[in-house]
Amino acid sequence: MGSSLTIPTLSTNMIKTITTVKEMQAVSNELRKDKKIGFVPTMGYLHEGHLALVKKARELGDIVIVSIFINPTQFGPNEDLAKYPRDFDRDAILLEREKTDIIFFPDSKEMYPKGYSTYVQVRDLQNHMCGKTRTGHFVGVATVVTKLFNIVKPHFAVFGQKDYQQLKIIERMVQDLNMDIEIIGYPTVREQDGLAMSSRNTYLSPDERSRALLISASLTEAERLFRNGTRDVALIRQEVERVLKSKEGVDIEYVSITDPDTLEDITKIHDRALVAIACHVGKTRLIDNKVLMEEH
Ligand code: AMP
Repeated sequence: MGSSLTIPTLSTNMIKTITTVKEMQAVSNELRKDKKIGFVPTMGYLHEGHLALVKKARELGDIVIVSIFINPTQFGPNEDLAKYPRDFDRDAILLEREKTDIIFFPDSKEMYPKGYSTYVQVRDLQNHMCGKTRTGHFVGVATVVTKLFNIVKPHFAVFGQKDYQQLKIIERMVQDLNMDIEIIGYPTVREQDGLAMSSRNTYLSPDERSRALLISASLTEAERLFRNGTRDVALIRQEVERVLKSKEGVDIEYVSITDPDTLEDITKIHDRALVAIACHVGKTRLIDNKVLMEEH
């Protein structure tokens, strides 16, 4: 967790929590008449990264709604659904502090009742990076985000660039399906030492955490090479992998250097490139990325 997050001992019962689809839709219908609704979907166990998205929504909207839902359809059979960290009371205190108006907190039966059969698939973008190993993950994401949009009815929603592929898929989906919702991307929030904040960082032992720092360090190295004029993707990949392998115990799933819009591999950087990494550190899967961009 973010070391800067001190949790007040006070409990909360001020913040409105809604658990049913029907009530959420009814409340949003009322609010939408004269208020701009901003929405931040999360899986809970909040850190400063999530809270930065909430602050952004607070800044841009009249009403801020945050969902907390650990979506089973985006987890594979061998993934960490059962042990994913949960602490609703703590999340509610943090959200209240950020002046969130409503928490939408449904359970799985509410979201996927008996007989549930409909899924949303965004083609092409799902075939790269995390989509190669996490089969079905982005169908789960696109499906739950569509459902949440239909339930919460926001004017805009804020997503983190930390999950870069997810952000691109949601942008594509909103465009393709003519959803009348503005998608706002927010830069990755990091710990002081560079580690991208993630609810999964809580799984890391102190030793694993120090090894995990190689991920952000390797991205910084990619940036340094780019700033020094390197445009050859093979060379940048080689250096990123060298940094990642400089200590034992960081297992690379992928180092992907691509066009930031299509996520297609490139061999030479012209104007911009996405460098995205997925690694296993111990049993924990971590992702991070950086967009390399010419300074005009
Ligand atoms: P999650 O709870 O992991 O599903 O994340 C909920 C939202 O928070 C997603 O839009 C994520 O991209 C975003 N998010 C997670 N970690 C960070 C971070 N370190 N910086 C910015 N946004 C983040």
